[in-house]
Amino acid sequence: MNKIAFDPGHYKGANRVGDYCEGDTMLLFGHALKRAYNIFLTRETGDNLTLKQRAVKAKDCDTLISLHTNWPAEATGIIVFYSVQRPEDKAIAEKIGRELSRATGLQFRRAVTRSFKSDPGTDYYGIIRESVEQGIKHMFIVEHGSHLEFAADTEAKIRACVEAYGRLFDMGARYYIVGNCDMPVVRKGSKGDAVKVLQQKLNEAGFNCGVADGIFGAKTNKAARAYQKVCGLVQDGIVGAKTWAALLNVHVVTLDPAVLKASLVSGVAGNLVKIFPNFINANFFSGSKTIGWLASGGRILSERDNHRKWMGLYDKPKGTFVVHKNGSVSVGWRTDKDMDDMRGNIQFCCQGFNLLPLDLKKEGFSASEVGRACNAVTIGYDGSRAVIAVQRGASAAVSARTMQKLGCKSAIRLDSGGSANLFVDRKGIFKTSRTLTNVIYW
Ligand SMILES: [Zn+2]
Repeated sequence: MNKIAFDPGHYKGANRVGDYCEGDTMLLFGHALKRAYNIFLTRETGDNLTLKQRAVKAKDCDTLISLHTNWPAEATGIIVFYSVQRPEDKAIAEKIGRELSRATGLQFRRAVTRSFKSDPGTDYYGIIRESVEQGIKHMFIVEHGSHLEFAADTEAKIRACVEAYGRLFDMGARYYIVGNCDMPVVRKGSKGDAVKVLQQKLNEAGFNCGVADGIFGAKTNKAARAYQKVCGLVQDGIVGAKTWAALLNVHVVTLDPAVLKASLVSGVAGNLVKIFPNFINANFFSGSKTIGWLASGGRILSERDNHRKWMGLYDKPKGTFVVHKNGSVSVGWRTDKDMDDMRGNIQFCCQGFNLLPLDLKKEGFSASEVGRACNAVTIGYDGSRAVIAVQRGASAAVSARTMQKLGCKSAIRLDSGGSANLFVDRKGIFKTSRTLTNVIYW
């Protein structure tokens, strides 16, 4: 049994305001937590459990956190309830409130207990009472803002809260998948909304289906097969779970930039994973040599000056991710001179091409070659966390949009294509048989 349990409040369809539904959103929130960490969920479906059932399910955990948003509309901001019988939990409740506030930008209103007026020693809220009864050490009800506040940018808010809980309870690497894959199988002759989504996504990825009309014809069939080819999938034009996952899923890892490290290596991913349980390939250009700047632990591992004549790209500005020795992060175009000037202040760096903004010509690349859809490994910065995203069949433009959607203000794409790798906890999310010359690990 895991130490921390989360209880997605209410049930399917509960507490609707416009398009927003607290019961459904809190379940999505719970699933996002479960994908990211080793936690226990009291409910994984829309079922309406009693408060007692929830507490009984979580009884072997140390901590239970019930996930909610608040109503009425005036009830804005974050409120954390703790048990009247556990006054020592006030400090934890305040820490939760402050961290969630920092993550979401919503106001932290208070950490508070509520008991019956007629019986001040007994908790008012059933889930807290039942949890105390089950012997759960710490129990909190968290209102993550009002329904209306949480209805705006819900996906980003969930992500920010998931990360905040990770920091609060030191739950380690944050890996999760963004995107909904609950789509029907479609193929030549299919018609409807799913085909329309397919056509839009294929067009965005640079595989032309023509107008997204919802009719799976010859042009869509050709585009789907071409897309399956770049993703390494069976080229049958049948768009099922794997093709949908490739089109819609983004694999995301977020971490403290301070934990990023890099290493020059020589080996295939399957062997490297024995040394590096969590890594992506850092290759700036595939091939036998590392061409970009790469630094780790304050040491420069590689610089482009070593390859001065390489294809005339020397001293063109390149998308560069730098963690400085004082812990600050900067991401954007850097020439070799820029890099040389800051040499003594680089803790970690890696290079690729810049995504926000995207201008391949400026970097000396041909857009058709480097910008084409392929498996993409990207790293960005959202103001506090490094965001690593791996996506199949993504053009440079799609990569840029993905990083923006993930809240990044700046990002670069590392060389990827046929050498794209992502390993999390020694599990190959993406793997390749190519020999890698370098990795970024954490
Ligand atoms: Zn609620």
